[in-house]
Amino acid sequence: MAEIGTDIQKAASLLRRGKLVAIPTETVYGLAGNAFNEEAVLSIFETKNRPQFDPLIVHSSGIQWVKQHVNEIPVLAGILMDEFWPGPMTLVLPKKEIVPDLVTSGLDSVAVRVPSHPMTQELLLMLDFPLAAPSANPFGYVSPTTAQHVNDQLGDKIDYILDGGSTTVGLESTIIGFEEGKPIVYRLGGLSIDVIEESIGPVEIALNQSSDPKAPGMLKSHYAPGKPLYFGNPGELISDFDGKRIGFLGFMTRLEFLPNDRQLILSPHGDLHEAAVNLFAFMREFEKFPVDIILAEQLPEIGLGRAINDRLRRAAVNS
Ligand code: AMP
Ligand code: MG
Repeated sequence: MAEIGTDIQKAASLLRRGKLVAIPTETVYGLAGNAFNEEAVLSIFETKNRPQFDPLIVHSSGIQWVKQHVNEIPVLAGILMDEFWPGPMTLVLPKKEIVPDLVTSGLDSVAVRVPSHPMTQELLLMLDFPLAAPSANPFGYVSPTTAQHVNDQLGDKIDYILDGGSTTVGLESTIIGFEEGKPIVYRLGGLSIDVIEESIGPVEIALNQSSDPKAPGMLKSHYAPGKPLYFGNPGELISDFDGKRIGFLGFMTRLEFLPNDRQLILSPHGDLHEAAVNLFAFMREFEKFPVDIILAEQLPEIGLGRAINDRLRRAAVNS
């Protein structure tokens, strides 16, 4: 198992030596390596069992770094950076040659983000290179929101997990690219569309459902827990599961006809932010429950509810 601790110096020195360290961010835990060290980047792909056509997000301490490593910043991208960084938003921008092809899977754009978690901010400020960091889970599985989640799955493959507590957003970043200066959302995430639109006006949403290498975070089957998850209206779905032990992942209220100890409620008060924080941890918890399948209820399609529904849909076997 990996060592779990809060020693930022130790994390920095491992990263300088080309090793991988799991780091806390406000979205989910990342599996970080020096973005400019080819060996380190290769071992990120290996450790996660992630296909090399799936490009990585590069994390840096501030806008200054981003300006030095991209060719062009569309006007609206500049506004978004100023308003939402540090935070759960990733921008896809044309890359300069110095950004390694391995990180971008050969694309001529790079996905960049400035995370707000204070420990990771401090870590990035200590380093003279940015960190490539996808979520610290095996490819295709639910993302980790605690150090323990990382240890459970990747503990025997990495040396150190920097423990920054439970993540405060709980969903991966929202990914935004630009085509002819127009913003296009490639992945729904921790920064909701309404908040983005308040800042820059209407955005197009182009969520890829296929295996398009441009947005593999969008692969249809992704974020899946270890038991079959069915997504939709529980009342309609339930008749399909006669004889099966059903677990219920609900938004605000329990189902009367199921035992209480097989149900997890994302936010009894109906707070979408709280629901997002709980989502991945609860999906993992069902693995320990005595249930055969998980029924997940659709949340309201507003604010973070859209991103939560997106993750449930992608995790589901029936959609
Ligand atoms: P994650 O798996 O959370 O690290 O997110 C990485 C995702 O960012 C990838 O799966 C892509 O969907 C997206 N991404 C990264 N780089 C690019 C890029 N250059 N162009 C478009 N999407 C990208
Ligand atoms: Mg991921």
